[in-house]
Amino acid sequence: MSEKFTVRDFFKRFPDDDACLQHVMEVRFGARHVCAACGVESTFHRIAKRKAYACAACGAHLYPCAGTIFQDSRTSLQTWFYVIFLFVTTRHGVSGKEIERTVGVTYKTAWRMGQQIRQLMEKADGFDLMRGHVELDEAYVGGHRPGKRGRGAAGKTIVMGMKERGGRMSAEVIPNIKKATLREVTLRNVEPGSIVSTDELMSYGLLDGDGFKHGTVKHGAKEFAYYDYRHDATHHTNNVESFWWLFKRSIASTHIHVSQKYMNRYLAEFTFRSNYRQMRNAMFDLLIGAV
Ligand SMILES: [Zn+2]
Repeated sequence: MSEKFTVRDFFKRFPDDDACLQHVMEVRFGARHVCAACGVESTFHRIAKRKAYACAACGAHLYPCAGTIFQDSRTSLQTWFYVIFLFVTTRHGVSGKEIERTVGVTYKTAWRMGQQIRQLMEKADGFDLMRGHVELDEAYVGGHRPGKRGRGAAGKTIVMGMKERGGRMSAEVIPNIKKATLREVTLRNVEPGSIVSTDELMSYGLLDGDGFKHGTVKHGAKEFAYYDYRHDATHHTNNVESFWWLFKRSIASTHIHVSQKYMNRYLAEFTFRSNYRQMRNAMFDLLIGAV
């Protein structure tokens, strides 16, 4: 199947709950696998009227949804699958209202489903250090109103974005923009020796003692990129800035207000999509099989 994953494709692959359950089984256990009860590499057949399969060798029952977000949910598997499909295929994020409208569940259920899917996306984020050339840029997001401009705007959450050029995007809430905080976030996420591009907030000297090849773009002086002969690298933070641009617009248009408490989850939703953009089927299966 191509990486295009249309609504038509979706309903062809998942016409009903049985097809969805079969997919959970395949993603989590595969067609043949070693039975946990008898130790035989066995096939498993569906048990009628139960969300379970039975081992062909010993008859032991296996519930493929055990431990997933589908377990014990009164929402049908196909509805869950469709909401996950929305998360995978959207560009701007999925609001509780949209889930409520599209699949016909209550707003409360819709909101909970969205949060559970975001939690899976948060967990799926890797812990590998970023290396090579990494862009760092902070932003202020999620206030009620545009409010004051510039740093320290009221009601906003401060977030730090990191993008490995040609690689992964990562983002997290930070408590403040003190020197020690910025340095700690960098040390925790970026491998020493990497080239790091930041704006002037990460002032000269902040990262130099830690072995980074650090370049600062002076946004205040309308400088947006420069070539660094010492490290043979072009310093700019355009990739992180585009991420923030999309994130802010999407939050404003679909969620209106996101509290600080949930901000990391929304960030994870967007970095997850950004990191798997070319692999929608992989993204989908990763969420289906997550426990
Ligand atoms: Zn068995």
